[in-house]
Amino acid sequence: MSEPPEQLNQFRLDGQVALVTGASRGIGEHIALGLAAAGADVAVTARSNEALQAVASKIRSLGKRSVAVPGDITDSAFVNRLADRVCEELGSLNIWVSNAGGTDDPAPRAVADLDDSQWDHQLDLNLRAVFTGARAAARVMPDNTTIINISSVAGSRPSPRNAPYAAAKAGVDSLTASLSLELAPRRIRVNAVAPGPIPTEVFMEFFDATEDDLPRLAEDLQVPLGRLGRPEDIANAVLFLASPAAAWITGQVLAVDGGPRR
Ligand code: NDP
Repeated sequence: MSEPPEQLNQFRLDGQVALVTGASRGIGEHIALGLAAAGADVAVTARSNEALQAVASKIRSLGKRSVAVPGDITDSAFVNRLADRVCEELGSLNIWVSNAGGTDDPAPRAVADLDDSQWDHQLDLNLRAVFTGARAAARVMPDNTTIINISSVAGSRPSPRNAPYAAAKAGVDSLTASLSLELAPRRIRVNAVAPGPIPTEVFMEFFDATEDDLPRLAEDLQVPLGRLGRPEDIANAVLFLASPAAAWITGQVLAVDGGPRR
């Protein structure tokens, strides 16, 4: 049995190399900075190069190496190039976080009002990119590594006017479970984190909300712990699942949502 100070070291990520998708802002940026603070070198990707370079600079100012690889995560050829580039530049890859997600069309729409391209886009970004990411990760990562997918509580609840997103996130939960068994023989752990409401830019647009609306929204959304989430609440869960402290956890979807709803 390890003594308490050594046990705390199991939450560190020194010597690990991580990649975070959708790391140019919001939850992904916090995950990337959190992984670096815990000791990992961190590669970041998203489409907007300028924002991505700013995050890479923040990682370097924490004393860790970083590489920013801009591109569209719905392009599976890019995802393969991304995996190779991170290995080339940072020497290895041990932690793959598929966080990019959401929608370019934040207007809530009923299923009857959706066209095929809107459905396809949401499934491509929120589910297919998680599949292509895991496939690339499994190709380049050594054994004893980990994949973490950012899902949503929307994946396990009815989500009227947000159905394709919710269906995609339900798919992420299922894919996480299947992958965990396929990759268990290689000791690659695969887990998901399912955030509840976190007021990032895209969330504020979806609810057409301002800062002043946040306490009311926490009430309307019936969050048992009485507040909306913070990006660092999600980053903390990812850090734990990525660390050796979670060595015996795979195939799980960890809800980080301020408590279950009735
Ligand atoms: P943001 O919109 O703030 O960030 C999304 C990130 O994904 C950005 O870095 C964006 O960068 C990137 N991204 C979007 N589309 C693409 C694309 N086609 N190719 C590459 N990168 C892309 O979202 P959040 O931080 O709020 O959400 C992060 C994750 O958490 C998502 O998976 C979301 O579904 C999930 N989540 C969020 C919740 C919330 O309440 N905020 C609740 C539950 C789950 P760029 O535009 O530069 O490409």
